Amino acid sequence: MSLQYPHAQPPAAGELVEVAPGVFWLRMPLPFQLDHINLWLLRDGDGWTIIDTGFPDDAVRATWQQILDGLDGPVRRLIVTHFHPDHLGLATWLMEKTDAELSMTTGEFLTAHVVWNEVGGHGARFMVEQFRQHGLDAERLARFEQRGSGYRKAVPALPEYYRRFKAGDVATVDGRKWQIIIGHGHAPEHMALYCAELGVLISGDMLLPRISTNVSVFAATPDADALGWYLDSLDELARDIPAETLVLPSHGLPFYGTQARVKALHAHHDERLRALENSCEQAPQSAADLLETLFQRALDTHQTMFAMGEAIAHLNHLEQAGRLSRNTDASGVIRYTRPPSAAH
Ligand SMILES: [Zn+2]
Repeated sequence: MSLQYPHAQPPAAGELVEVAPGVFWLRMPLPFQLDHINLWLLRDGDGWTIIDTGFPDDAVRATWQQILDGLDGPVRRLIVTHFHPDHLGLATWLMEKTDAELSMTTGEFLTAHVVWNEVGGHGARFMVEQFRQHGLDAERLARFEQRGSGYRKAVPALPEYYRRFKAGDVATVDGRKWQIIIGHGHAPEHMALYCAELGVLISGDMLLPRISTNVSVFAATPDADALGWYLDSLDELARDIPAETLVLPSHGLPFYGTQARVKALHAHHDERLRALENSCEQAPQSAADLLETLFQRALDTHQTMFAMGEAIAHLNHLEQAGRLSRNTDASGVIRYTRPPSAAH
């Protein structure tokens, strides 16, 4: 079973493509190796609802301005799936431009603020200490220290008010019900939206067709089984979302094939878990030691952040499943070993 892509090409900059009745797809550039994000505009009576904002830079602001100027009615609502800069970063700017009110989950709203302010175990300074414990070398740590808060650098301002969505809530847009689906592992309380009437799932970053969603462990919750949470959230989607649903992901092309994609992602993570387990067979390994096992390529500082998060998430998962044991040495570095009894 493979994925079906009903649109071979993404929209051009500033173009709106209707992918379901009243649901429009637009694309914005991202200044990373992952070079784009998909955003969604929903017709809502005589106005509009925007899903996610794009990354805060001038190219995105200019494209938004062009789109807003072309709309036939006011933007009344902005719904944000999660706190990451490419999804929430322009919320303040868009709210000022349009007078729209913001809706998101409490977990994402509060996480944005603590990461931005680097308090409560969140943000760059806590992450540097977490990566030190997971064996990252002094040179790469120094690069993180010099970089400081990537989040605060990227996001100029955050909204101070919002309307809360929580699990089980329903958003009514243009008279149609969109069910709020909370997912974990990529961000604390990520929100996807599912409209049974249209057969459409706006999946955010939880279900992507080509790349695998980044799964990371926050410094504040060092033992979190973020990978287990993520896989459980995927299983819920596979169970609850009918196969004929059109999935609108934040990156890549819209697709059909939720169950096939969830199955492929399980296989991908199983394979990574086995590779890590095998790498810890001969000698104890830290998360930093294992970056090469997981990513056979050079990583820049931004990618190293995601890679370390991913490695720690997999190692926590293996340790909690009893497949690896964990030791902390005298200098505080955590290493993992495959216990003899778990060999097979
Ligand atoms: Zn994200």
